[in-house]
Amino acid sequence: MVIATKPRRKFSKSVNLMVDRAFQYLDLPPGLSEQIKACNNVIEVQFPVRMDNGEFRTFRGWRAVHSDHRVPAKGGIRYAISVNYDETVALATLMTYKCAIVNVPFGGSKGGLRIDPREHSVDELERVTRRFARELIVKGYVSPGGNVPAPDMGTSPREMSWISDVYKSMYPSDINYYACVTGKPVANGGIQGRVEATGRGVQYVVREFFRHPDDVRQAGMEGDIEGKRVIVQGFGNVGYHLALFLKEEDGAKIVAIIERDGALIDDNGLDLRDVREYINEHGGVEGYPDATFVADGLSVLEHECDILIPAALESQITVDNAPYIQAKVIFEAANGPITYDADEILRQRGVFVVPDAFVNAGGVTVSYFEWTKNISHIRFGRMSRRLDEWRGLKTIEAMEYMTGKEMPEHMRRGILLASDELTLVRSGLDDTMRLAYQEIRAAKEDVPELDDFRTAAFYVAIKKIAQTYLDMGVWP
Ligand code: GLU
Repeated sequence: MVIATKPRRKFSKSVNLMVDRAFQYLDLPPGLSEQIKACNNVIEVQFPVRMDNGEFRTFRGWRAVHSDHRVPAKGGIRYAISVNYDETVALATLMTYKCAIVNVPFGGSKGGLRIDPREHSVDELERVTRRFARELIVKGYVSPGGNVPAPDMGTSPREMSWISDVYKSMYPSDINYYACVTGKPVANGGIQGRVEATGRGVQYVVREFFRHPDDVRQAGMEGDIEGKRVIVQGFGNVGYHLALFLKEEDGAKIVAIIERDGALIDDNGLDLRDVREYINEHGGVEGYPDATFVADGLSVLEHECDILIPAALESQITVDNAPYIQAKVIFEAANGPITYDADEILRQRGVFVVPDAFVNAGGVTVSYFEWTKNISHIRFGRMSRRLDEWRGLKTIEAMEYMTGKEMPEHMRRGILLASDELTLVRSGLDDTMRLAYQEIRAAKEDVPELDDFRTAAFYVAIKKIAQTYLDMGVWP
């Protein structure tokens, strides 16, 4: 994604300034705020890998542990040429608050490798990933109980599988080896529903927003999701899934998508599956025949719409475009898409922003389910699914016997909904996102000075993290 102008502050500074807004409403013992904000440790590694042509190339990567007040510390590994120390720290910081907001009992971590995965063959990527994994494992930065990576931009279940295999070969007697990483392929220790979890989580947040007429009204809208005009930036794993769910399940109209090489606009709504196929085939959106193409994709963030969902990189909405954003509500599916200064502008303009550390927490939530499955060594629902089904059938039989009538098909289906792994994951994710939304809202009601959702979300997170430290007794 092209960044229009360089943000004026470092990413980590921007995150901490946003967090500071929440700290001022909490009365914490001296020093505790500093400890919560500090990034505990960061490792930088450099290592050589042989390329397919026989030459060696040196790669540079980082893993930051922002907090380990709870373990394992959790967070993805990003592969991108723009990866750097500060970005890794900022993303690890967001993970700390993210986990606390959605009640995932983990600390915050993040990793990054400076590499353009599109420039490498699968063999090269495998060698690089295995070597990077080894570096992190021997230095204590990957383990089931200490630090658990997951996919992020540029990585996928494939890389996670390689990492878990390296860990297993180094610690063959650790029966929990699968839990050293999440987001694995389902056949290799993964969990159903993890790939689309972040997108699903965003959908559940959007739905919950529309269940609160006061919030919808505050954003200057009315009604529900049906027919709302949505712009999505980034059509990768997160953006594609959430756009599809909002369109096909909730009736939203996706009027524009912004990709690396430009944007597509169709005020009547884009055919998302067709666009995805086109991108897979052509590597970008340029030339797509059934929509208007805009080469300056970033300018489309300012296009008229109801809902804007940045689902790409950080620092996309800056002081340069914040004054012109026309969306009524922004759901931050990416990490850090709005800079601190831009956020101030949007706050003044009354644009309703639902923040990253909450909106995109669906990924880590389902990672938590996967990790729990791995350490318990049993698939969710394995022991109860048949019994649930049997009980459902018996209930239907009993009702039909007592009433002498046949139960309509849609009711049957509801009662027979099996508690298989995917259904349980979705239900757990839905519940998590809804409860978190309600918790943030309740904080806003308790502390009227918390006038925006981001500050309220950080407030909720800090309170929980502070309590953990206080309970540990480190802060008399
Ligand atoms: N990379 C994702 C994130 O930024 C997922 C992290 C995880 O599952 O640990 O939230």
